[in-house]
Amino acid sequence: MAKPARVRTIAPPRGSIVTKALSAIRSVKGTRDLLPSETPLWQRVEEEARRVFDAYNFREIRTPVLERTDLFARSVGADTDIVTKEMYTFQDRDEESLTLRPEATASVVRAYIEHRLFNEGGVHKLYYLGPMFRRERPQKGRYRQFYQIGAEVLGSDHPTIDAEVLEMLTFLLARLGLREFSLLINSVGCGKCRPTYVEVLREALQGVKSQLCADCQRRAETNPLRVLDCKVEADQAQIARLPRIVDYLCADCRKHFDGVEAELAQRGVAYEINPRLVRGLDYYTRTTFEITSSGLGAQNALLGGGRYDGLSEMLGGPSSPGFGFAIGQDRLMLAVEHAGNLKGENSIAAYVAWLGDGAFRPAAELARGLRQQGWRVEIGYEPVKLSKSLSVANKLHARYAIIIGEGELASGRYQIKDMGTGRQEEVEPARVPAYLKEKLGTGPV
Ligand SMILES: [Zn+2]
Ligand SMILES: [Zn+2]
Repeated sequence: MAKPARVRTIAPPRGSIVTKALSAIRSVKGTRDLLPSETPLWQRVEEEARRVFDAYNFREIRTPVLERTDLFARSVGADTDIVTKEMYTFQDRDEESLTLRPEATASVVRAYIEHRLFNEGGVHKLYYLGPMFRRERPQKGRYRQFYQIGAEVLGSDHPTIDAEVLEMLTFLLARLGLREFSLLINSVGCGKCRPTYVEVLREALQGVKSQLCADCQRRAETNPLRVLDCKVEADQAQIARLPRIVDYLCADCRKHFDGVEAELAQRGVAYEINPRLVRGLDYYTRTTFEITSSGLGAQNALLGGGRYDGLSEMLGGPSSPGFGFAIGQDRLMLAVEHAGNLKGENSIAAYVAWLGDGAFRPAAELARGLRQQGWRVEIGYEPVKLSKSLSVANKLHARYAIIIGEGELASGRYQIKDMGTGRQEEVEPARVPAYLKEKLGTGPV
């Protein structure tokens, strides 16, 4: 058995009397803490998302944050910025290359294949929420650990799926109080028609690539479609004149895209076609889309997604078409705050203020009863003056303060103070829950 390690103590430098303070450890660049002042709105948004997904019969799937690196090289694409520059990849102790997931679609499809969900037949509708990791340049609303809310439908290539998911998304955004957003759609074709278009594009690029940015000059050779993604302002005029993929779709892809358009129109979902929308990932086929929000400034994409009919096969699974999206939750939160129509719950129902040692037990009993019924309640832990208790209640955004002192114990009626109006009423202990319910108009949380 190994000897226990000797504990090393670090002695202060000789002759010094003052112990030097250790420098505080800070969070990693590009990551952040979500503090209790922020989490209520995050929770609210997540609850709305879960509720809407549930209404459309999507089920939650939770996949690991760690995956084998190959999963993303094969799905996202070995030539994409995500894989070449942005992934957190490391050798595990047994030399295996692992990666912190930069997105979740590949993981969901991996799980779908690994657990042979396709054997159950029919369509699988799955959703997820959680952190993703990309080593991007930190900027407003962009983080290296960022959060996504996404969903995938596996097992059908019917245009109705695309339209139903887009309808669900517009419903979700409306529930989050977002009014000003636009849905942009495009078709990027399939394995049959896209290669033809890529050749046409490659040829067109030969003439103009010297006028484009360095990245585009490289992409013109390696992956011409990526040129259409370029965000460099000076390139946009040239890019707008390049051939459009929608003019090169094969008959099946054309029919599919027409089907999506017809279904959207029937559902009253407003959209625009944007022929430049090819998305940053290699696995997309046919429908691609983005929803932009005007409240977000120049980098205004709120979410995006599309169809990926070949992804399951790319990952060694059976032919199994898919359609999905991911919402950047960090940016979504900015848009929700900007719109200001949805609020997180920061208040508590009641603060139990007790005065004098004899009041503590009945006060604790009342707090316990309310809490066990689900009311959000706080109680002071040590005796203080009433004014101090009420100021604590104020800080906690308590809707009511329940005051219990010797007088209240003697009369058998507690004082309940409305912290908004300052008005006070006497209520028997047993009636307190009913009183709160009547006043707050809701049940316990
Ligand atoms: Zn096609
Ligand atoms: Zn460019």
